[in-house]
Amino acid sequence: MKRVLIVGAGMTGSLCAALLRKVSGTLYLAVWDKAGDSGGRMTTASSPHNPLCTADLGAQYVTCTPHYAKKHQIFYDELLAHGILKPLTSPIEGMMMKEGDCNFVAPQGISSVVKHYLKQSGAEVYLRHCVTQINLRNGKWEVFKETGSPEQFDLVVLTIPVPQILQLQGDFANLISECQRQQLESVSYSSRYALGLFYEAGTKIDVPWAGQYITSNPCIRFVSIDNKKRNIESSEIGPSLVIHTTVPFGVTHLEHSIKDVQELILQQLENILPGLPQPVAIKCQKWRHSQDGEKEEKGRATTVMGIYIVPGLGLDESKILSHLLSKEVL
Ligand SMILES: Cc1cc2nc3c(=O)[nH]c(=O)nc-3n(C[C@H](O)[C@H](O)[C@H](O)COP(=O)(O)OP(=O)(O)OC[C@H]3O[C@@H](n4cnc5c(N)ncnc54)[C@H](O)[C@@H]3O)c2cc1C
Repeated sequence: MKRVLIVGAGMTGSLCAALLRKVSGTLYLAVWDKAGDSGGRMTTASSPHNPLCTADLGAQYVTCTPHYAKKHQIFYDELLAHGILKPLTSPIEGMMMKEGDCNFVAPQGISSVVKHYLKQSGAEVYLRHCVTQINLRNGKWEVFKETGSPEQFDLVVLTIPVPQILQLQGDFANLISECQRQQLESVSYSSRYALGLFYEAGTKIDVPWAGQYITSNPCIRFVSIDNKKRNIESSEIGPSLVIHTTVPFGVTHLEHSIKDVQELILQQLENILPGLPQPVAIKCQKWRHSQDGEKEEKGRATTVMGIYIVPGLGLDESKILSHLLSKEVL
Protein backbone atom coordinates (compact mmCIF):
# COMPACT_ATOMS: atom_id res chain seq x y z
CA MET A 1 0.00 0.00 0.00
CA LYS A 2 1.40 3.40 -1.00
CA ARG A 3 1.93 5.87 1.78
CA VAL A 4 1.10 9.49 1.04
CA LEU A 5 1.73 12.45 3.31
CA ILE A 6 -0.04 15.76 2.81
CA VAL A 7 1.62 18.58 4.72
CA GLY A 8 -0.91 21.24 5.72
CA ALA A 9 -4.51 20.75 6.87
CA GLY A 10 -5.91 23.84 5.15
CA MET A 11 -8.22 24.10 2.15
CA THR A 12 -5.62 22.80 -0.32
CA GLY A 13 -4.43 19.91 1.85
CA SER A 14 -7.93 18.76 2.78
CA LEU A 15 -9.17 18.84 -0.81
CA CYS A 16 -6.04 17.03 -2.05
CA ALA A 17 -6.74 14.34 0.55
CA ALA A 18 -10.39 13.97 -0.52
CA LEU A 19 -9.45 13.83 -4.21
CA LEU A 20 -6.71 11.30 -3.61
CA ARG A 21 -9.10 9.10 -1.70
CA LYS A 22 -11.46 9.22 -4.69
CA VAL A 23 -8.76 7.97 -7.06
CA SER A 24 -7.49 5.27 -4.73
CA GLY A 25 -9.42 3.71 -1.88
CA THR A 26 -6.44 1.68 -0.67
CA LEU A 27 -3.88 4.43 -0.05
CA TYR A 28 -2.49 5.16 3.38
CA LEU A 29 -3.20 8.88 3.64
CA ALA A 30 -1.84 11.08 6.40
CA VAL A 31 -2.24 14.84 6.85
CA TRP A 32 0.18 16.65 9.17
CA ASP A 33 -0.28 20.20 10.35
CA LYS A 34 1.79 22.22 12.77
CA ALA A 35 -1.26 24.01 14.19
CA GLY A 36 -3.54 22.77 16.98
CA ASP A 37 -6.57 22.60 14.66
CA SER A 38 -7.30 22.10 10.98
CA GLY A 39 -8.39 24.99 8.75
CA GLY A 40 -5.19 26.95 8.09
CA ARG A 41 -6.13 30.37 6.77
CA MET A 42 -9.74 29.16 6.81
CA THR A 43 -9.73 29.08 10.58
CA THR A 44 -12.72 29.41 12.90
CA ALA A 45 -11.94 30.43 16.49
CA SER A 46 -14.22 29.72 19.46
CA SER A 47 -14.87 31.70 22.60
CA PRO A 48 -13.20 30.08 25.64
CA HIS A 49 -16.52 30.67 27.44
CA ASN A 50 -18.74 29.02 24.87
CA PRO A 51 -17.46 26.80 22.04
CA LEU A 52 -20.63 27.58 20.07
CA CYS A 53 -19.72 31.27 19.91
CA THR A 54 -17.33 31.27 16.93
CA ALA A 55 -15.62 33.69 14.56
CA ASP A 56 -13.96 33.24 11.16
CA LEU A 57 -10.59 34.94 11.59
CA GLY A 58 -9.22 34.29 8.09
CA ALA A 59 -11.32 33.73 4.97
CA GLN A 60 -14.79 35.28 5.31
CA TYR A 61 -16.74 33.93 2.36
CA VAL A 62 -16.20 31.90 -0.77
CA THR A 63 -16.68 33.73 -4.05
CA CYS A 64 -17.81 31.67 -7.00
CA THR A 65 -17.16 33.50 -10.26
CA PRO A 66 -19.01 32.39 -13.43
CA HIS A 67 -15.73 30.80 -14.62
CA TYR A 68 -15.37 28.71 -11.46
CA ALA A 69 -19.08 27.97 -11.32
CA LYS A 70 -18.63 26.08 -14.59
CA LYS A 71 -15.31 24.50 -13.69
CA HIS A 72 -16.08 23.47 -10.12
CA GLN A 73 -19.86 23.14 -10.06
CA ILE A 74 -19.69 19.69 -8.45
CA PHE A 75 -17.74 21.05 -5.47
CA TYR A 76 -20.22 23.85 -4.84
CA ASP A 77 -23.22 21.57 -5.35
CA GLU A 78 -21.86 19.06 -2.87
CA LEU A 79 -20.99 21.67 -0.23
CA LEU A 80 -24.42 23.29 -0.63
CA ALA A 81 -26.20 19.91 -0.46
CA HIS A 82 -24.42 19.13 2.85
CA GLY A 83 -25.31 22.56 4.24
CA ILE A 84 -21.59 23.35 4.59
CA LEU A 85 -22.03 26.42 2.39
CA LYS A 86 -25.07 28.68 2.15
CA PRO A 87 -25.53 31.77 -0.03
CA LEU A 88 -24.37 34.99 1.62
CA THR A 89 -27.56 36.98 2.03
CA SER A 90 -26.64 39.49 4.75
CA PRO A 91 -25.51 42.96 3.71
CA ILE A 92 -21.75 43.57 3.44
CA GLU A 93 -21.19 47.27 2.84
CA GLY A 94 -18.47 48.26 0.40
CA MET A 95 -18.12 44.73 -1.00
CA MET A 96 -16.89 44.60 -4.61
CA MET A 97 -19.26 42.44 -6.63
CA LYS A 98 -18.63 41.55 -10.25
CA GLU A 99 -21.46 40.49 -12.55
CA GLY A 100 -22.36 36.83 -12.12
CA ASP A 101 -20.39 36.39 -8.88
CA CYS A 102 -22.02 34.41 -6.11
CA ASN A 103 -20.81 34.48 -2.51
CA PHE A 104 -21.22 31.72 0.05
CA VAL A 105 -20.75 31.59 3.80
CA ALA A 106 -20.23 28.58 6.03
CA PRO A 107 -22.90 28.58 8.81
CA GLN A 108 -20.76 26.31 11.03
CA GLY A 109 -17.68 28.45 10.44
CA ILE A 110 -15.38 28.53 7.43
CA SER A 111 -13.15 25.76 8.84
CA SER A 112 -16.10 23.38 8.43
CA VAL A 113 -15.32 23.30 4.68
CA VAL A 114 -11.84 21.97 5.44
CA LYS A 115 -13.13 19.55 8.08
CA HIS A 116 -15.70 18.23 5.60
CA TYR A 117 -13.01 17.29 3.08
CA LEU A 118 -10.73 15.82 5.74
CA LYS A 119 -13.56 13.62 6.96
CA GLN A 120 -14.46 12.60 3.43
CA SER A 121 -10.85 11.61 2.75
CA GLY A 122 -10.65 9.28 5.74
CA ALA A 123 -7.05 10.50 6.16
CA GLU A 124 -5.32 10.24 9.49
CA VAL A 125 -4.94 13.83 10.62
CA TYR A 126 -2.08 14.66 12.96
CA LEU A 127 -2.04 18.12 14.49
CA ARG A 128 1.00 19.78 16.14
CA HIS A 129 3.17 17.95 13.60
CA CYS A 130 5.54 20.60 12.25
CA VAL A 131 7.57 19.27 9.31
CA THR A 132 11.20 20.43 9.46
CA GLN A 133 13.19 18.22 7.10
CA ILE A 134 12.67 15.82 4.18
CA ASN A 135 15.35 13.33 3.13
CA LEU A 136 15.54 10.70 0.43
CA ARG A 137 16.21 7.26 1.92
CA ASN A 138 16.14 4.02 -0.10
CA GLY A 139 13.80 5.55 -2.67
CA LYS A 140 11.35 6.83 -0.08
CA TRP A 141 10.87 10.24 1.52
CA GLU A 142 11.80 10.36 5.17
CA VAL A 143 9.89 13.20 6.77
CA PHE A 144 11.07 14.74 10.03
CA LYS A 145 8.91 16.73 12.40
CA GLU A 146 9.88 18.96 15.33
CA THR A 147 9.35 16.17 17.86
CA GLY A 148 9.16 12.39 17.54
CA SER A 149 10.64 9.96 15.03
CA PRO A 150 10.67 10.57 11.26
CA GLU A 151 8.32 8.59 9.03
CA GLN A 152 8.69 7.30 5.49
CA PHE A 153 6.32 8.01 2.60
CA ASP A 154 6.18 7.23 -1.13
CA LEU A 155 4.72 10.60 -1.97
CA VAL A 156 4.62 13.95 -0.20
CA VAL A 157 2.32 16.85 -1.07
CA LEU A 158 3.35 20.24 0.32
CA THR A 159 0.47 22.68 0.65
CA ILE A 160 2.12 25.05 3.13
CA PRO A 161 2.87 28.69 2.23
CA VAL A 162 5.95 29.09 0.03
CA PRO A 163 8.25 30.77 2.62
CA GLN A 164 7.65 27.77 4.89
CA ILE A 165 8.43 25.36 2.03
CA LEU A 166 11.71 27.18 1.44
CA GLN A 167 12.62 26.77 5.11
CA LEU A 168 12.47 22.96 4.92
CA GLN A 169 15.84 21.30 5.43
CA GLY A 170 17.36 18.06 4.13
CA ASP A 171 17.78 16.51 0.66
CA PHE A 172 14.58 18.16 -0.50
CA ALA A 173 16.18 21.61 -0.23
CA ASN A 174 19.05 20.49 -2.51
CA LEU A 175 16.79 18.79 -5.05
CA ILE A 176 14.86 21.96 -5.90
CA SER A 177 16.34 23.33 -9.13
CA GLU A 178 17.59 26.90 -9.26
CA CYS A 179 14.71 27.76 -11.59
CA GLN A 180 12.12 26.26 -9.22
CA ARG A 181 13.69 28.09 -6.29
CA GLN A 182 13.56 31.40 -8.14
CA GLN A 183 9.92 30.83 -9.04
CA LEU A 184 9.06 30.00 -5.46
CA GLU A 185 11.04 32.94 -4.11
CA SER A 186 9.07 35.29 -6.36
CA VAL A 187 5.80 34.44 -4.59
CA SER A 188 4.76 37.37 -2.43
CA TYR A 189 2.43 37.53 0.55
CA SER A 190 0.93 40.42 2.42
CA SER A 191 0.51 40.45 6.18
CA ARG A 192 -2.35 41.56 8.35
CA TYR A 193 -3.90 40.96 11.76
CA ALA A 194 -7.35 39.69 12.66
CA LEU A 195 -9.18 40.21 15.92
CA GLY A 196 -12.10 38.11 17.12
CA LEU A 197 -14.31 39.58 19.86
CA PHE A 198 -16.68 37.20 21.63
CA TYR A 199 -19.73 38.42 23.58
CA GLU A 200 -22.13 37.01 26.13
CA ALA A 201 -25.52 35.70 25.00
CA GLY A 202 -28.06 38.49 24.78
CA THR A 203 -25.52 41.22 23.87
CA LYS A 204 -26.87 43.55 21.21
CA ILE A 205 -24.65 45.06 18.52
CA ASP A 206 -26.96 47.43 16.77
CA VAL A 207 -25.70 48.08 13.24
CA PRO A 208 -27.65 47.73 9.98
CA TRP A 209 -24.94 45.64 8.24
CA ALA A 210 -23.34 42.23 8.75
CA GLY A 211 -19.99 43.36 7.42
CA GLN A 212 -18.33 46.53 6.28
CA TYR A 213 -15.22 47.33 4.26
CA ILE A 214 -13.60 50.45 5.66
CA THR A 215 -11.51 52.79 3.53
CA SER A 216 -10.98 55.70 5.88
CA ASN A 217 -8.99 54.11 8.71
CA PRO A 218 -5.22 53.43 8.64
CA CYS A 219 -5.58 50.35 10.84
CA ILE A 220 -8.92 48.67 10.13
CA ARG A 221 -9.99 47.40 6.70
CA PHE A 222 -12.92 45.13 7.49
CA VAL A 223 -15.38 44.56 10.32
CA SER A 224 -18.06 41.92 10.49
CA ILE A 225 -20.67 40.76 12.94
CA ASP A 226 -19.65 37.23 12.22
CA ASN A 227 -22.77 35.37 13.37
CA LYS A 228 -24.94 37.82 11.43
CA LYS A 229 -22.78 37.33 8.31
CA ARG A 230 -23.40 33.58 8.64
CA ASN A 231 -27.12 33.99 9.44
CA ILE A 232 -26.83 32.16 12.76
CA GLU A 233 -28.14 34.78 15.15
CA SER A 234 -29.43 33.15 18.33
CA SER A 235 -30.65 34.31 21.74
CA GLU A 236 -28.61 31.53 23.44
CA ILE A 237 -25.25 32.21 21.80
CA GLY A 238 -23.51 35.56 22.06
CA PRO A 239 -22.53 37.52 18.95
CA SER A 240 -18.95 37.66 17.67
CA LEU A 241 -17.13 40.41 15.87
CA VAL A 242 -14.25 40.05 13.41
CA ILE A 243 -11.84 42.82 12.53
CA HIS A 244 -9.21 42.61 9.78
CA THR A 245 -6.49 45.22 9.71
CA THR A 246 -5.13 46.94 6.64
CA VAL A 247 -2.00 45.44 5.08
CA PRO A 248 0.17 48.54 5.83
CA PHE A 249 -0.78 48.24 9.52
CA GLY A 250 -0.02 44.50 9.44
CA VAL A 251 3.38 45.01 7.83
CA THR A 252 4.38 47.86 10.17
CA HIS A 253 3.43 45.92 13.29
CA LEU A 254 4.48 42.44 12.16
CA GLU A 255 7.11 41.93 14.86
CA HIS A 256 5.33 43.83 17.66
CA SER A 257 3.83 42.06 20.65
CA ILE A 258 0.34 40.66 20.10
CA LYS A 259 -0.82 42.45 23.26
CA ASP A 260 0.27 45.88 21.95
CA VAL A 261 -1.19 45.23 18.51
CA GLN A 262 -4.50 44.13 20.04
CA GLU A 263 -4.65 47.34 22.07
CA LEU A 264 -4.00 49.50 18.99
CA ILE A 265 -6.73 47.74 17.00
CA LEU A 266 -9.21 48.11 19.86
CA GLN A 267 -8.46 51.87 20.09
CA GLN A 268 -9.15 52.28 16.37
CA LEU A 269 -12.30 50.17 16.64
CA GLU A 270 -13.64 52.66 19.19
CA ASN A 271 -13.45 55.35 16.46
CA ILE A 272 -15.38 53.18 14.01
CA LEU A 273 -17.94 51.64 16.37
CA PRO A 274 -18.03 53.86 19.49
CA GLY A 275 -19.55 52.45 22.68
CA LEU A 276 -19.35 48.76 21.78
CA PRO A 277 -20.16 46.46 24.72
CA GLN A 278 -17.28 44.77 26.54
CA PRO A 279 -16.43 41.37 25.02
CA VAL A 280 -15.93 38.34 27.32
CA ALA A 281 -12.97 37.11 25.26
CA ILE A 282 -10.65 38.41 22.55
CA LYS A 283 -8.43 36.50 20.14
CA CYS A 284 -5.74 38.28 18.15
CA GLN A 285 -4.36 36.40 15.14
CA LYS A 286 -1.30 37.40 13.14
CA TRP A 287 -1.47 36.45 9.45
CA ARG A 288 2.16 36.67 8.40
CA HIS A 289 1.28 35.04 5.07
CA SER A 290 -2.12 36.46 4.26
CA GLN A 291 -4.03 36.15 1.02
CA ASP A 292 -2.94 38.92 -1.33
CA GLY A 293 -0.25 36.97 -3.14
CA GLU A 294 -2.76 34.19 -3.73
CA LYS A 295 -2.72 34.40 -7.54
CA GLU A 296 1.04 34.31 -7.59
CA GLU A 297 0.96 31.41 -5.16
CA LYS A 298 -1.33 29.41 -7.43
CA GLY A 299 1.00 29.78 -10.40
CA ARG A 300 3.82 28.08 -8.59
CA ALA A 301 2.70 24.44 -8.44
CA THR A 302 5.73 22.32 -9.20
CA THR A 303 7.16 18.83 -8.61
CA VAL A 304 10.44 17.58 -7.19
CA MET A 305 10.53 13.83 -7.82
CA GLY A 306 7.83 12.41 -5.54
CA ILE A 307 7.16 15.72 -3.85
CA TYR A 308 4.33 17.87 -5.10
CA ILE A 309 4.52 21.54 -4.21
CA VAL A 310 1.01 22.97 -4.46
CA PRO A 311 0.68 25.98 -2.15
CA GLY A 312 -2.60 27.88 -2.28
CA LEU A 313 -4.35 25.74 -4.90
CA GLY A 314 -7.57 25.48 -2.88
CA LEU A 315 -10.48 24.53 -5.13
CA ASP A 316 -8.55 25.75 -8.19
CA GLU A 317 -6.95 23.30 -10.54
CA SER A 318 -8.14 20.52 -8.33
CA LYS A 319 -9.07 18.36 -11.26
CA ILE A 320 -5.63 18.71 -12.77
CA LEU A 321 -4.16 18.00 -9.40
CA SER A 322 -6.15 14.83 -8.91
CA HIS A 323 -5.13 13.68 -12.39
CA LEU A 324 -1.48 14.44 -11.70
CA LEU A 325 -1.53 12.60 -8.45
CA SER A 326 -3.56 9.65 -9.61
CA LYS A 327 -0.91 8.83 -12.23
CA GLU A 328 1.72 8.67 -9.55
CA VAL A 329 -0.40 6.91 -6.99
CA LEU A 330 -2.30 4.22 -8.85
C1 LIG B 1 -7.26 37.49 6.65
C2 LIG B 1 -7.59 36.61 5.48
C3 LIG B 1 -8.79 36.78 4.79
C4 LIG B 1 -9.10 35.98 3.70
N1 LIG B 1 -10.32 36.11 3.09
C5 LIG B 1 -10.68 35.26 2.11
C6 LIG B 1 -12.02 35.24 1.61
O1 LIG B 1 -12.88 36.01 2.06
N2 LIG B 1 -12.32 34.35 0.63
C7 LIG B 1 -11.38 33.45 0.14
O2 LIG B 1 -11.71 32.65 -0.74
N3 LIG B 1 -10.13 33.43 0.63
C8 LIG B 1 -9.76 34.28 1.60
N4 LIG B 1 -8.51 34.21 2.15
C9 LIG B 1 -7.54 33.28 1.54
C10 LIG B 1 -7.79 31.85 1.93
O3 LIG B 1 -7.94 31.76 3.33
C11 LIG B 1 -6.59 31.02 1.48
O4 LIG B 1 -6.41 31.18 0.09
C12 LIG B 1 -6.77 29.55 1.74
O5 LIG B 1 -7.28 29.31 3.03
C13 LIG B 1 -5.41 28.89 1.58
O6 LIG B 1 -5.51 27.53 1.92
P1 LIG B 1 -4.23 26.61 1.84
O7 LIG B 1 -4.63 25.27 2.31
O8 LIG B 1 -3.62 26.69 0.49
O9 LIG B 1 -3.15 27.25 2.83
P2 LIG B 1 -3.25 27.42 4.47
O10 LIG B 1 -4.66 27.62 4.80
O11 LIG B 1 -2.25 28.43 4.79
O12 LIG B 1 -2.83 25.97 4.94
C14 LIG B 1 -1.50 25.62 5.14
C15 LIG B 1 -1.38 24.83 6.45
O13 LIG B 1 -0.02 24.41 6.57
C16 LIG B 1 0.33 24.42 7.94
N5 LIG B 1 1.80 24.47 7.99
C17 LIG B 1 2.63 25.50 7.67
N6 LIG B 1 3.92 25.11 7.81
C18 LIG B 1 3.90 23.81 8.23
C19 LIG B 1 4.92 22.87 8.54
N7 LIG B 1 6.21 23.16 8.45
N8 LIG B 1 4.53 21.62 8.95
C20 LIG B 1 3.21 21.29 9.04
N9 LIG B 1 2.21 22.16 8.75
C21 LIG B 1 2.55 23.41 8.35
C22 LIG B 1 -0.36 25.65 8.49
O14 LIG B 1 -0.55 25.51 9.90
C23 LIG B 1 -1.68 25.65 7.71
O15 LIG B 1 -2.72 25.01 8.42
C24 LIG B 1 -8.18 34.98 3.27
C25 LIG B 1 -6.99 34.80 3.98
C26 LIG B 1 -6.69 35.58 5.06
C27 LIG B 1 -5.40 35.35 5.82
